[in-house]
Amino acid sequence: MADRLARTIARDGTVRGLAAVTTDLVEEARRRHGTLPTATAALGRALTAALLLGGTLKHDERLSLEFSGDGPLRGILVDATPAGDVRGFVSRPRTHLPARNGKLDVGGALGRGVLCVMRVPLEGGAPYRSLVPLASGEIGSDVASYLLRSEQSPSAVGVGVFVEPDGRVGAAGGYLLQAMPGASPEAIERLVSNVDTASSPSELVRRGLGAPEILAHLLAGVPTRVLEERPVRFRCRCSRARVDTAILAMGRAELLDVLAGERRAEVVCEFCGARYIVEEEELRVLLAASEDSHG
Ligand SMILES: [Zn+2]
Repeated sequence: MADRLARTIARDGTVRGLAAVTTDLVEEARRRHGTLPTATAALGRALTAALLLGGTLKHDERLSLEFSGDGPLRGILVDATPAGDVRGFVSRPRTHLPARNGKLDVGGALGRGVLCVMRVPLEGGAPYRSLVPLASGEIGSDVASYLLRSEQSPSAVGVGVFVEPDGRVGAAGGYLLQAMPGASPEAIERLVSNVDTASSPSELVRRGLGAPEILAHLLAGVPTRVLEERPVRFRCRCSRARVDTAILAMGRAELLDVLAGERRAEVVCEFCGARYIVEEEELRVLLAASEDSHG
């Protein structure tokens, strides 16, 4: 089943929900970064959370989540666009810890630390930045804690990744449910009870549920309508042109150093692992361009 994001709202407008199936894009992230299972789960949960949170934004913002902790994984950086493109990486992709309570120990890998949420207007302008302490380092509860503390929005967030014994991603997905102002105590009680008794998101995806079915499962008893369902994917914004710009930004002295030494530059994109080789001739073209711009 292809990766999808669905959005739904209660007919009376008091509850909204988003769900995503992200198996393919989390597997792509694993292959690109060579992550071991605990790191795969951490990265996959964060990528899924970014897509879910991104789905609640106005359509002219990009969202990034940066988790920093004192555990062996150190950090996770992911970002998502309104179009459903997501990318990201972890600081130490080879992190793997013994399972805790039968689950991949993402909280132990991340440790104690902070979550920084940044919303960047696509048309320029000042980014909005918010910093909250990690609640558990398990990603879903950290994002729920951010929504409560920074946006005063009581939410349930579940994100999960099932890693096969051979290390590949078997299933990944998640949900985000929010009670809007005016939600009745009965509706909230029903949501809490649905979430408490539901299987994990990765288990729901393993059973073959798509994004709208996950929402129907979690919002059972609440009359809703699906607002939207659309594809999501791992996609990076790096390009050869951006690499050239970065090389130019190194400055002339550095560029001359490279030309005198290795005579080629290798640039690896942190977000997607793409490798760009800039050969001597192209470096000389860039050097000439920098001479033009500096008179
Ligand atoms: Zn890239």
